[in-house]
Amino acid sequence: AHARVLVVGGGYGGATAAKYLRLLSDQKVEVVLVEPNDAFVSCPISNLVIGGSRTLADITVPYAGLSTFHGVRVVKDTVARIDPTARKATLGSGAVVGYDKLVLSPGIELMFDGVAGLREAQLQGRVLQAWKAGPETVALRRQLEAMPDGGTYVLTIPEAPYRCPPGPYERACQVASYFKAAKPRSKVLVLDANPDVTSKGALFKKVWAEQYGGMVEYRPQHKAVAVDAAAGRVKFEIQDDVRGDVLNVLPPQRAGAIAVQTGLATANGRWCPVDYLSFESTAARHIHVLGDAIQIAPGMPKSGHMANSHAKVAAAAIVAELNGWAPNPAPMLTNTCYSFVDAKNVVHVASVHEYVAAEKTFKTVAGSGGLSTAPNEMEGRYAWNWARTIWADALA
Ligand code: FAD
Repeated sequence: AHARVLVVGGGYGGATAAKYLRLLSDQKVEVVLVEPNDAFVSCPISNLVIGGSRTLADITVPYAGLSTFHGVRVVKDTVARIDPTARKATLGSGAVVGYDKLVLSPGIELMFDGVAGLREAQLQGRVLQAWKAGPETVALRRQLEAMPDGGTYVLTIPEAPYRCPPGPYERACQVASYFKAAKPRSKVLVLDANPDVTSKGALFKKVWAEQYGGMVEYRPQHKAVAVDAAAGRVKFEIQDDVRGDVLNVLPPQRAGAIAVQTGLATANGRWCPVDYLSFESTAARHIHVLGDAIQIAPGMPKSGHMANSHAKVAAAAIVAELNGWAPNPAPMLTNTCYSFVDAKNVVHVASVHEYVAAEKTFKTVAGSGGLSTAPNEMEGRYAWNWARTIWADALA
């Protein structure tokens, strides 16, 4: 019988891994992908749904390509438990799936307990995150539509590392773009637990100052510790409370719950250290962890592009091991993150990361970086094509 790889999570990391395991093994490895959602919904571009220039349908891709074109067995379910010793996973349905190798790309868990009152406010639908694209993305858009002109949208950002370093700043631009057109007396207030804008700082600050005038206010070193949804207030560790009409509070994050539960998140109890040659967990053999859930090397962002890159290195390492081939001794990763500052104009940051054997880690290749000089429409077209290309790469 051929080896079986169980892939947990059909997001950027998992979907790519499932497809490339089939391609690289010449369809010989059996691949089972377990994912609870009906379709893939992309976080990249989802800020445009909040800004109003795109819809959820624009960022949704079916899983059918993986089964039809690549013979991946796609199971709509959740993995409830993993037994790394017996190499078995138990699904929500109770079904038990044995595996030779397991690929785990569960994304992030939002740590609601990190902000007092947030879990309850979230359950009531009053304070949203929309940090996993889907119905909540649309719900946040509705809150902004319902907000009267002259209101304040408050976005709080947790300490790094979190999913998508430039994502919150892009979102601030998108909301400002909507307000500028529809509610010009309104305000965007960004409260960042970090000492400064974590990514593309000078570019974002220029856009806020020049394109959006006084509409966007940015305050660093504001760590949110509590919310009072009824009063529309956010409380901070040190500074005074702020009041807002729409509160978008992003709590601290860690590896997806199943990774933590399986005992793989041994870095501060939050992220999963891996052997960067194969992305195999350092805590459990035969389990390869990808994407946002891993403990990153310096300079590696938690991005969809990175998760896609991890997946290819891991898939190649798994197929090599199953065939008794020597692993690739020098894998490389690439990353480009585009940010839309309005419906059309975009800035990007790019990097290349190489495995350095002597230090067993990835390092940014000197001189490989790229950064826009100013937002422009050409990069807006590149960004949209980047999205369509990576969705096809992972799912078609
Ligand atoms: P995900 O893509 O989140 O996939 C995880 C999957 O696992 C989900 O489908 C989930 O349902 C499933 N899952 C979880 N637990 C289980 C379980 N127990 N059993 C079965 N399935 C499970 N990145 C970029 O590269 N470019 C961008 O422009 C960009 N923009 C962004 C904008 C926003 C607003 C946000 C929030 C993120 C953005 N990102 C961007 C980051 C990107 O979305 C993530 O880095 C990427 O999704 C990580 O991939 P992943 O596979 O780790 O997790």
